[in-house]
Amino acid sequence: MSLEGLYQEIILDHYKTPRNRGKLEKPDIEIFESNPLCGDELCLHAHVNGGTLKDIRFEGKGCSISLASASMMTETLKGRDRAHAQKYINGIKAMMHGEEKLTDEELGDLEALKGVADFPARVKCALLAWTTLEKALNERSAREGM
Ligand code: ZN
Repeated sequence: MSLEGLYQEIILDHYKTPRNRGKLEKPDIEIFESNPLCGDELCLHAHVNGGTLKDIRFEGKGCSISLASASMMTETLKGRDRAHAQKYINGIKAMMHGEEKLTDEELGDLEALKGVADFPARVKCALLAWTTLEKALNERSAREGM
């Protein structure tokens, strides 16, 4: 299988079998964002404790890239702390500009999103989950510190 084919498989797998899909009871983070360019909609829920994303879930509708990206994000950041989350948020943003801030090992399945950088119209789809989480984390730390 070509690398492109493999990436496509990974994206379709996350799209068809999303990880951490759903809502949480009494979420510490609850945020809805959309990407009008494509029609993607995303709702993120998270439990935060002691600076750690104890649990993170998402619901949404939209294209395979936006939903696969959200699925991969929850898988990557669940149980991780804020610094780790920010490192990945920055890394994925940079990746959409063709920069490599994260190693292939750090990226794991996320490497499948690399090719999106070649399609500027889809970059917002790939980034929706990450920019939404970043906004929620910033709002939270502005409010009470995390
Ligand atoms: Zn999209």
